[in-house]
Amino acid sequence: MADTTLMSIPGQVDPVPVARDITPREDGRVDLIGLARPRIRELFGEAGLDDRQAKLRSKQVFHWLYHRGVTEFDAMTDISKTMRPWLAERFVIGRPNVVEAQHSSDGTRKWLLQTDDGHDFEMVFIPDADRGTLCVSSQVGCTLNCTFCHTGTMRLVRNLTPGEIVGQVMLARDALGEWPKGKMDFAFEDDETDESAAHYTADGRLLTNIVMMGMGEPLYNFDHVRDALNLVMDGDGLALSKRRITLSTSGVIPMMERCAEEIGVNLAVSLHAVTKPVRDEIVPLNKKYGIEELLQACADYPKASNARRITFEYVMLKDKNDSDEDAHELVRLLKHFDLPAKVNLIPFNPWPGAEYECSTPERIRSFSNIVFEGGISAPVRTPRGRDIDAACGQLKTAAQKKSRAERDREAAATS
Ligand code: SAH
Ligand code: SF4
Repeated sequence: MADTTLMSIPGQVDPVPVARDITPREDGRVDLIGLARPRIRELFGEAGLDDRQAKLRSKQVFHWLYHRGVTEFDAMTDISKTMRPWLAERFVIGRPNVVEAQHSSDGTRKWLLQTDDGHDFEMVFIPDADRGTLCVSSQVGCTLNCTFCHTGTMRLVRNLTPGEIVGQVMLARDALGEWPKGKMDFAFEDDETDESAAHYTADGRLLTNIVMMGMGEPLYNFDHVRDALNLVMDGDGLALSKRRITLSTSGVIPMMERCAEEIGVNLAVSLHAVTKPVRDEIVPLNKKYGIEELLQACADYPKASNARRITFEYVMLKDKNDSDEDAHELVRLLKHFDLPAKVNLIPFNPWPGAEYECSTPERIRSFSNIVFEGGISAPVRTPRGRDIDAACGQLKTAAQKKSRAERDREAAATS
């Protein structure tokens, strides 16, 4: 078991088990992935380096970890050959363990991952013509029980650590072969780099966008999601712009302002219904934080963060939330709150045992037209990766449908 501690967070289930930022490993070494730069410097100091050395080495190591994606200290060529084993004795460079990697016929890729203490979670990569989006998980399971979401049928196992969250992005870069190669773009004082002189370019990347839309409610794991995304956005590391990151919440109002201030990424809000009885049923968090309150919090959000339009997600459930009246009410509400909004209509993705059906294509078109005519963009999101259960709301399937024994058998058969 991971060493967990109880953290109090606002929500239905409170407190929840939270993994510590440093989960002790059996061998006593510390995983550097997920730690903020000052923390790495501090640890180097505690391990015996003087101030100047700790500062310099932490800067170098950070660059190798997050800009170059190396997983061995031995690859850090501007760090002296005697220093590298010293680091390797005390620290490790972790990645989530890959249990299974699947490819959809539409190019979508899904990875079933595992934490060091044996919990499964998933991440999905969705390539498009002009972008590539990584869908990242924030928790193993979810405390909220949205009735149309497969993840919502799992209980919350635990929050993912910053390292496990940023580790998903790093693993995706590993798998896509997207770490820059060639000459480093800056030199250190005692640079002994022996790399090739080839320059690299950041253009033409496959992974261009990140959405916090995998398993879990990111605002119920606020600190870890913030720390992980700050690493993703760090200009000396992965350097992804906050404009290319979207955090999706089911409406955890008390954390939205902090999300704007401390993370500042784009916000997507899972609205899914425009009346209290329907939203209470399908997004039970609505009983705690209602629609009007949520839309007011959204109206306040861009002012705090200068974020662009808020995206509202709306899952299309047959005979539940998909009438013309619902569409008109949606337009009225968004106008009432004067929200610079875009509505993403998501065809419901089925999973075994789900109580809902997807709205018909005609119904979805009619709904979309009404919202468009109201002056709000309302594209229908094409489901991706349905054949490998990678589409929105389908995550859990792979993680739980196979037993460990089955997976071991499969692994043995393919090796
Ligand atoms: N917990 C966060 C983020 C993860 S879910 C949230 O709820 O916003 C990402 C999106 O997929 C959410 O809008 C969610 O409501 C939607 N979703 C969940 N189950 C779905 C399903 N079966 N079909 C289509 N979309 C679904
Ligand atoms: Fe949790 Fe989001 Fe699924 Fe609701 S839709 S159960 S908040 S993951």
